[in-house]
Amino acid sequence: MSKVIVSSLYESEVFKMACRQFDIAADAINLPENIRDRTKYPRRAIAVALPIQRQDGSVTVFEGYRVQHNLSTGPSKGGIRFHQSVTIGEVAALAMWMSWKCSLAGLPYGGAKGGVIVDPNQLTELELERLSRRYMQELVNFVGPEIDIPAPDLGTNEKVMGWMMDTYSNHAGRIVPAVVTGKPISLGGSQGRREATGAGVAYLVKRYLEDLQIPLGQATAIVQGFGNVGSETALAMDAYGIKVIGISDYTTAIYNPKGIDLKKAVTYLKCQRVLHHFDGGEAISNEALLEQKCTVLAPCALERVITEQNAAKIQCRILAEGANGPTTNAADRILDQREEIEIIPDVLCNSGGVIVSYFEWLQNLQSYYWSRDEVMTKLFTILDRAKEAVESQKRKMQFSRRLAAQTLGIQRVAEAKAARGLFP
Ligand code: NAD
Repeated sequence: MSKVIVSSLYESEVFKMACRQFDIAADAINLPENIRDRTKYPRRAIAVALPIQRQDGSVTVFEGYRVQHNLSTGPSKGGIRFHQSVTIGEVAALAMWMSWKCSLAGLPYGGAKGGVIVDPNQLTELELERLSRRYMQELVNFVGPEIDIPAPDLGTNEKVMGWMMDTYSNHAGRIVPAVVTGKPISLGGSQGRREATGAGVAYLVKRYLEDLQIPLGQATAIVQGFGNVGSETALAMDAYGIKVIGISDYTTAIYNPKGIDLKKAVTYLKCQRVLHHFDGGEAISNEALLEQKCTVLAPCALERVITEQNAAKIQCRILAEGANGPTTNAADRILDQREEIEIIPDVLCNSGGVIVSYFEWLQNLQSYYWSRDEVMTKLFTILDRAKEAVESQKRKMQFSRRLAAQTLGIQRVAEAKAARGLFP
């Protein structure tokens, strides 16, 4: 019998949610007791203080984290989040999900995640650069191409990854592009990485619509969040002929049953930084947007937005989880009863990002670069394989799609841990 001494370190609703999902999955596949806690709890966590000189001359100390959940199946991999509500518990939950996601896609990585408690919209460009560099500086001994490879997430982007790569390389005394992924192309970024997560979400949506025999031209979509994942998901669905009738960001939600002009929205965002006052449709609340009738609902912003309160009210055929952890466990129980809704769970749905991050890392290690077509073809092949594995597990075990995806991810990590044994 394995025993874990549980501390309050990761105490948070989202960590509880990830642990509960793990327990349900572990019970469903009768995971041996001896391997459970080793597989479930993060391997290590680092907390760092980040003093930054502001442009007015004052100094602010920000707090940051990196949680490496699993290092047994390869270096760990996962994004860095800059957001005011970051907690170490949230970062730990996201690191857990990264482990199952990498495992499900068959990537040679464990899961990790990082975060800094900061609203990046309140920083100047120079302050953002200082914070990004300082974060990497504090993590220099804990990350690296064979240890842990960060990437962008909520509130970070390719520019931030470029600064982090430069900081790490300056410490190493040589260029080390493979230390982070999601970099600008000019610094060894991969073709297709910026749009990879959204392209993957849209590709899976297309494949599930085909399974449901719903013509793409008759489908409508609503996307919550219009950042990297949300905007690329919307654009890729639009390119498939799916009509996008709702988009949102943290300032507003825009609804237009005739279809939203996405190019106009992207241009507006470039100039204004937010969608507030965008005139491409009716402005409604973010909550109301999630409850509008559509074929595809794609939450692509934060976790825990589909809840006990709105799960009975959403009106879609496909819930495509572009964000990590957008559906609470209580909402899941309600959605399980609503057979008309097909959920594409986050660990499958948004895995396009980490899959192309893997390609970027491979290209950096080999200094041999691929075309966008090669990247996309290989991405869709892996997504098809993962989808097929999930569907087969779902049929064979009579599981929900989320349980099927999570059990596959967890099983592979547990098997690797068991095979390695305990040291010493
Ligand atoms: P981003 O910072 O580029 O965009 C986030 C978007 O969400 C912004 O438009 C923001 O305004 C919006 N938003 C924030 N709070 C909101 C709210 N309360 N209501 C509505 N919209 C809100 O972040 P991103 O990289 O697109 O990440 C979004 C989600 O996707 C996160 O859950 C992240 O973990 C997940 N994810 C990202 C990647 C990636 O490659 N970037 C990969 C896999 C999963």
